[in-house]
Amino acid sequence: MSAGAKSRRIAPTPASSDTETRSVPRAVPPTERPREKRPFLLDFFPLEGPDQTRLSRFYDRLREGRLSTTRCPKDDEWHWPPRVACPKCHSEELEWKDLPERGRIYAFSAVLGGAPMGMEADVPFSVGLVDLNGVPLRLFGRIEGRPWPELHVGDSVRVEPYDLGDGRVFYRFRTID
Ligand SMILES: [Zn+2]
Repeated sequence: MSAGAKSRRIAPTPASSDTETRSVPRAVPPTERPREKRPFLLDFFPLEGPDQTRLSRFYDRLREGRLSTTRCPKDDEWHWPPRVACPKCHSEELEWKDLPERGRIYAFSAVLGGAPMGMEADVPFSVGLVDLNGVPLRLFGRIEGRPWPELHVGDSVRVEPYDLGDGRVFYRFRTID
């Protein structure tokens, strides 16, 4: 005899109708919510210390002004973003390589509105894809320097570390005149 056979009775479901009264919680407008429950700033940047990421060397080197990435010496595979294991051969015996400081704009766009939370004051700003000189890597990032109407595909840019103001760093590109 199978266990639970007698308990398979299903209670009848009450018929619903359009006139049925239901207790639906009222949505509380954001302005009435307690302060701690309001949406908070989205943080797009990872924590950078060795306790948080195995790629902390990337940020350490960036603080020194060096943009770098990993390369797998077994199959000469350059990675972007840097990796803890080669996606091709799965080796974790990777080497850190400094990247060229200069490149050329492959494509770009301007953010004129609808910026992510925390970036509203930066509008308008430019973002784009940059081909670094001499390596087979195309990087995405903010492009500072000239305003967006004066940018062109093929323009030269250089990498610069960007201080996030809380001990973290990231990189941006700046046009070279
Ligand atoms: Zn590999």
